[in-house]
Amino acid sequence: MSGIIGKITGASWRQEAKQAPLCPIKETDLARRVELLDSFEQAGLGWFWATDAFGRIIYLSENAIAKLGWNKDDLIGRALTDLFLPEQDEDGVSQSERPLKFLLSARNSITQLDVRLAVEGAEIWWEIAGKPQFDKKGEFNGYRGSAKDITATRENQRNSERLSQYDSLTGLANRHRMSKRLGSTLAAYRNAKRSCALMMLDLDRFKQVNDTLGHPAGDELLKQVAGRLGQIIGKRGEIGRLGGDEFQVMLPDIDDRGILGDLASRVIQMVSQPYSINGARAIIGTSVGIAVAPYDGVNTEELVKAADLALYSAKASGRGQFRFYSSALKDGAKHRRNMEEDLRDALHRDELSMAYQPIVDARTHKVACFEALMRWEHPERGPVSPAEFIPIAEDCGLIKKIGNWALETACCEAQSWPVELRVAINVSAVQFANDDFSLTVKRALKKSGIAPHRVELEITESIFMGDDERTQRMFKELKALGVRLALDDFGTGYSSLSYLRKAPFDKIKIDQSFVRGSCEPGNNNAAIISSIVSLADALGMETVAEGVETKDELALVTKRQATHMQGAIFSFAIKHEQVMEKLASGDLLYEPRGPERYRAGRRREFRRIGLIHGNYRYNVVLRNLSKSGAMIEGLMDVPLDTEVVLDLGDGQLAVAVVKRTEGYSQGLEFETPLISDGYEGLCTRHRVSPYQIEAAGKPLAALPADAYAALLDKGAKPDSLPQFREIPVAGFQAKVA
Ligand code: C2E
Ligand code: CA
Ligand code: CA
Repeated sequence: MSGIIGKITGASWRQEAKQAPLCPIKETDLARRVELLDSFEQAGLGWFWATDAFGRIIYLSENAIAKLGWNKDDLIGRALTDLFLPEQDEDGVSQSERPLKFLLSARNSITQLDVRLAVEGAEIWWEIAGKPQFDKKGEFNGYRGSAKDITATRENQRNSERLSQYDSLTGLANRHRMSKRLGSTLAAYRNAKRSCALMMLDLDRFKQVNDTLGHPAGDELLKQVAGRLGQIIGKRGEIGRLGGDEFQVMLPDIDDRGILGDLASRVIQMVSQPYSINGARAIIGTSVGIAVAPYDGVNTEELVKAADLALYSAKASGRGQFRFYSSALKDGAKHRRNMEEDLRDALHRDELSMAYQPIVDARTHKVACFEALMRWEHPERGPVSPAEFIPIAEDCGLIKKIGNWALETACCEAQSWPVELRVAINVSAVQFANDDFSLTVKRALKKSGIAPHRVELEITESIFMGDDERTQRMFKELKALGVRLALDDFGTGYSSLSYLRKAPFDKIKIDQSFVRGSCEPGNNNAAIISSIVSLADALGMETVAEGVETKDELALVTKRQATHMQGAIFSFAIKHEQVMEKLASGDLLYEPRGPERYRAGRRREFRRIGLIHGNYRYNVVLRNLSKSGAMIEGLMDVPLDTEVVLDLGDGQLAVAVVKRTEGYSQGLEFETPLISDGYEGLCTRHRVSPYQIEAAGKPLAALPADAYAALLDKGAKPDSLPQFREIPVAGFQAKVA
């Protein structure tokens, strides 16, 4: 029997086992069992360890001691836990060593516990198991256990984990890891009331590189992009490639949109520098969308969606730009649908009206004509710009109805003006393309009784994109009615001189974009204005310079000899009653009034905002906005130096001081300048935090459009009375162009 066991070492044992009778080792055959364990130890398959009742090592396999590089005498008698390093979580952050210590002190069994050891600076891993031992009397006298080296297995595991979490091409985090990291970060930050920004990037023209230089070049380009992103972002955040040419950057603890905007600009600038790929040169660009938690989204899904929307909008408005998420982007399509529905009701709800902007003779400044501009006072939104609702009306087929109404209303109102005054009415290309358009005009003329030569139809170059024969026929029919035709927004569209020859225009309107900034140095708009004027002169047409705002622009278009002028410097569009008042006064002259020169960066605005003063929130109308200040209307006699807070919506509160005050109009200066929103707009660096709203007793959610109201207690009354007289917005609506 003993001979057989003794032979279980060589290669011959299988054969012999087949022939010899089977003799199992008895439980009591201690020597044989020890022999077995010895060979197990020596083969390095595993080791054994034992501790005394105080947790001190009393045995460890020789092999293991050798591997650890310890001296046996030093080792015996040490606490078992001294062998191991503290545990770590995934990111290398130390946790407590509680599990092993805890198990030992509770005298629990240990099964498959991974522990870490340092051997000559290198990290190795053991998996250990052990059982507490008790003597006959039930006294605890230590552990007996086993261990094995699992470093290689763990390494493999880590590598495959890495592969599943990182993009093999660029080495950046992949979509899976980004979403996991974002999820855990947002969840943790929520409790700590911290913020986290997310940038979404999409390369512009990447496809072209791929198509022309080939896929390997495309891959190389992506690697270089990843490298550049890494340089800019550094330790500030984590960069991921979501696939294709889409990247994402997570930026913990940044909510200052000034910093984010600067960072995005640098990203765009760096990515747009030329690349050298195997000797070939490639140039791409990138668009960036930015959203910040918890402002724009509380969880991963919301935040990613917000950043995506911002990216989409950045891409849509030209490439190489960044854009912050704003509530206006949300449900863009839904918003449009709502507007469409509301617009259907606008007519019979009497929400539409016509306003009239004088077009004056360039030499005398005497009004020659009024341009009829449609106004829509939305019951909730307030004034909506025709630049927004006319395209909607065109898309949904409402333009015909609304356009007819405008035509009839303008003809009827203008009919009562002195006979030398004309009315100019805007006609969209969609209206013009209707075969019965001339019939509609005829009806409006008849209904109002106005003389046809007093009516001017403003059409844009886009009508020439349609059926040429039809267009010519329509011109003929309109001319036969005796109305005049003006070519609107000249220079912005297809601007072909052949149109001018073919079409019987009486007037060309030089688009505002040529007038604005025409006095800035290095700008060739003045030359363009001159050539349009001489062209029109040669064809016997009048010219109107549109959008004249400043004294220097006025001087310029006067010098360049446009026959007529229109713009804020004379007057914005006014209500019909005001036209009648002006006409009744017999004074048909318009005094130019406005700033000396064009100021870049001052944007004309046209929206209702809030003004907070002494805990009272007033409704005012924002007329223009620049980084440093704003012009508002709607409050009477606000004293100079009054400190106010402008509520610009979306939780943007800006502290400002009144620097100029005149009747119901005030010029304000911001305490902290606004910053660019990446496009044409401006925004505040900081916003009301959703955490503040949460502290006011509401559930944590992304910022509502009316964040300021959410911040206040619902039922709470303003604790002070208004100090300033609010002019009802509708009261000066007509002054608003
Ligand atoms: P448009 O025909 O080019 O009208 C001129 C626009 O420029 C008007 O904007 C006018 O208020 C604005 N404007 C005039 N002077 C100045 C100035 O000095 N500075 C600045 N910044 N703006 C000035 P509005 O009223 O918002 O109209 C926008 C567009 O909506 C119009 O552009 C026109 O295309 C369309 N629209 C307006 N009313 C009607 C309408 O009754 N029917 C149709 N089909 N379209 C209309
Ligand atoms: Ca017009
Ligand atoms: Ca125009």
